Amino acid sequence: MADIATVLYTEDEIQRRVRELGAALTQEYEGRSPVLVSVLKGAVMFVSDLIRAVDLPLRVDFMSISRYGESASGVVRVLKDLDQDIGGEDVVVVEDIIDTGLTLSYLLSILHAREPASIQVCTLLDKSVRRIAPLEIPFTGFDCPDRFVIGYGLDYEERYRNLPFILAVESPAALSDDPDALSGYLLQPPEVVR
Ligand code: 5GP
Repeated sequence: MADIATVLYTEDEIQRRVRELGAALTQEYEGRSPVLVSVLKGAVMFVSDLIRAVDLPLRVDFMSISRYGESASGVVRVLKDLDQDIGGEDVVVVEDIIDTGLTLSYLLSILHAREPASIQVCTLLDKSVRRIAPLEIPFTGFDCPDRFVIGYGLDYEERYRNLPFILAVESPAALSDDPDALSGYLLQPPEVVR
């Protein structure tokens, strides 16, 4: 299995960094009550750990979007919209991973049109070397290498979201031949599989 994927961020590293991000948000939004907006499904694991690390009154809301294939525009269709009005609110968009940034910039344009008091972005992973759309990302967990990653919410064909650590896929071809090839990581901790 180790020739198909290797551990990029361990559970301890992720949890430590999420606590630091929570502390940074607590400081940034002191005296305010932000709305954390998260995009289903990849960011679910991250947002659920993150909100427990923010010592402020806050609200959480979710959007679900679908991308139009590999379109270079980032245009998305909103499948599930936010439940609450974000007009006048301090919004934090919580993302799992930003790659080209096209999806997020389109999403930000939708949210900006609703006239929140402020919008900032908090992402666990940033593949900054792949960025096409210029974006300001004030809260980043890890600057991620240009590899396909799975685990901690991130999937490959809906699998592996429940891994508590993050793997970098070394052989995309092997995973495409057998999408369950990494199931062993679900059964044993990575130090055993390594
Ligand atoms: P962007 O519009 O920034 O290029 O695409 C961002 C989206 O692509 C992420 O929200 C995620 O769904 C997907 N994505 C980008 N890189 C990866 C990756 O390495 N692994 C997984 N599982 N999804 C990724």
